Amino acid sequence: MISKILIANRGEIAVRIMRSCKEMGIETVAVFSDADRKSLHVRYADEAIHIGSSPSTESYLVKEKIINAANSTGSDAIHPGYGFLSENAEFADLVRKEGIIFIGPSSDSIRMMGDKISARRIMTKADVPVVPGTRKKIDDDIKALKVIKRIGYPVMIKASAGGGGKGMRLVYKESESLDALKSARSEAIDAFGDDSVYIEKYLSKPHHIEFQILADRHGNVIHLYERECSIQRRHQKIVEETPSPIMTPELRQEMGEKAIAAARSVNYEGAGTIEFLVDENLNYYFLEMNTRLQVEHPITERVTGVDLVKEQIRIASGEKLAYEQADIFQDGHAIECRIYAEDPENNFMPSPGLIRKITEPMGFGVRTDGYVYEGYEIPIYYDPMISKLITWGRTRDEAIIRMLRSLEEYYIMGIRTSIDFLKRIMENPEFINGQYDTHFIDTHKEKLFCPSEDIAGTEDLAMIVAFMEYLEDAKIKKNGLPPQSFSNWKMRNRKRNISRQ
Ligand code: ADP
Repeated sequence: MISKILIANRGEIAVRIMRSCKEMGIETVAVFSDADRKSLHVRYADEAIHIGSSPSTESYLVKEKIINAANSTGSDAIHPGYGFLSENAEFADLVRKEGIIFIGPSSDSIRMMGDKISARRIMTKADVPVVPGTRKKIDDDIKALKVIKRIGYPVMIKASAGGGGKGMRLVYKESESLDALKSARSEAIDAFGDDSVYIEKYLSKPHHIEFQILADRHGNVIHLYERECSIQRRHQKIVEETPSPIMTPELRQEMGEKAIAAARSVNYEGAGTIEFLVDENLNYYFLEMNTRLQVEHPITERVTGVDLVKEQIRIASGEKLAYEQADIFQDGHAIECRIYAEDPENNFMPSPGLIRKITEPMGFGVRTDGYVYEGYEIPIYYDPMISKLITWGRTRDEAIIRMLRSLEEYYIMGIRTSIDFLKRIMENPEFINGQYDTHFIDTHKEKLFCPSEDIAGTEDLAMIVAFMEYLEDAKIKKNGLPPQSFSNWKMRNRKRNISRQ
C-alpha cells in the first residue's frame, strides 16, 4: 500500500500528480529549490522539503538529496514526473535499493530504451519497423561518410542518449557532414556525457504519432491509442491532438499492436509512450520510447477517461491493470496547446518574469494544467512552460473552436507568451483541415509570426484592459455590483469572430 508519495519534480507536472494523489487519499511531499519557494507545487503538497539552490544540477537532479527527502518524510514511493531524473536508470536503482517504490519501469527497461541505438536494435528484433539507418554507434568519420552515402541525403545525425532535440543534426549534403558529426558529438557529450551518435534517413514530410501504453507486472499490456504531435518548433512539440487526423482504423490497429509488442520486448511496466514517424504513404517507423509520463498525456486522458497517474500508482503498487484493451475507447477529440513564457517572434526566446495578471479559461470541455498565479515570478532556471491548455469536443471542429475560445479567454500580463501564436495555428486553414506535417510552422511562418508592431499593439491593449478592470474593481468596491459588468474577454475579443465560416 502506498500512502505517501514524494514528487521528484516541480511546476505543473508536480501539481498534476498531487491532484491524483489527493483523490486517492495519498499524502504528498514536494521538493523545491531556492527559486521555487513560492511555486504552487510547494503550496499544494502536504509537506515540502527544500533540496538546494536554484540550478537543477544542485537540486532536482541531485539523486541523494531527493532520496534523503523521501526517507526523512517516510515516503513509500517517488514519482519522478517527466524530465529531470524520470529516465535515469541509476536513480531508479538507488530509490529501490532504499526500499522505496519508484513509480516507473525497471531500470533495465529504462536502460534498454534510453539508449536509442540499443532501442533500435531491440525493436528490429521485435519486428517493429525502425527509421532506416545505422544499428551501431558511428565512431569513424570516413565510415560515417560511406554510410551516409549509402542511406542517401538528407540524413539525421542523432545522439544515442539524445532527448529534447539535443545532439541532432540534419545534413543535406556531403560538405556539411563532417562538421555536423563533430557538433552533434560535442553537443551530446555536453548534454548527456556520452558522445555516441548514429545516422537515420531524414523523412521528408513525416508525422510524429505516438501510442500511449500501460503495462502491469502481471504481463498485461494495453494501448490507449495515438497522439498526433507533428506541430513542433525546433523538433519539440507545442500542439498535440488525438485522434490523429491522418489515422485510419487499420493503421491504428496495426500501430497499436506494434506499440504493445515494443513494450513487451523490454518487459515494460507502468505508463510509457512509443513514438513513431509516419510518412506520406502511411509507412510507420519506430522513433523512440519514452519510459515515463509524457507532457501531452492529458489529451489521452480526456478521450479515454483513464487517469494515467492513478494507473501508474496502482501499477507501482503491484495491482493488475484495471482495464482490458476492449474497455478502452476514443470518445470525441482532444487538443493540447502548450503555453510557454516565451516570445515566438523572437526565436521563441524564454520570457520569465512576474505574472502581473492572469485569467485562465474555464467552461465545458476545458482543462488547464498549470502552476502559476497572479504575483508569481517565473524563474529563469527551468523549462519556461507555464501550463497546458486542453480542450475536448465531440468532433475535431468543436475541439478547435473550443480551443480558440479558450485561448481568447486566456489572459496573462507581465510576460510574453505563446498564446497569440497558438491562436494563429488554430485559425490556419491547413491546420483546420488536418493537413499538416512536422514542417507546419516553417511552411506557414509568414502567417504564423506577427510583425513586432502588432505585438506592441496587443501589449498596449492588455494595459488598457487591465486599467479598465482596475477602475471596474474600484467601482464595485465603492458602489456594489454594477447592473452590467463587462468581461475582459469580451473587450479583447470584440472584433474577432471565432466560429468557422
Ligand atoms: P528527441 O528525443 O531529442 O526529442 P526525437 O528522436 O524524438 O528526438 O525526434 C524529435 C523530432 O525530430 C521528431 O518528432 C521529428 O519531428 C524530428 N525527427 C527526428 N528524426 C527524424 C527523421 N529521421 N526524419 C525526419 N524527422 C525526424
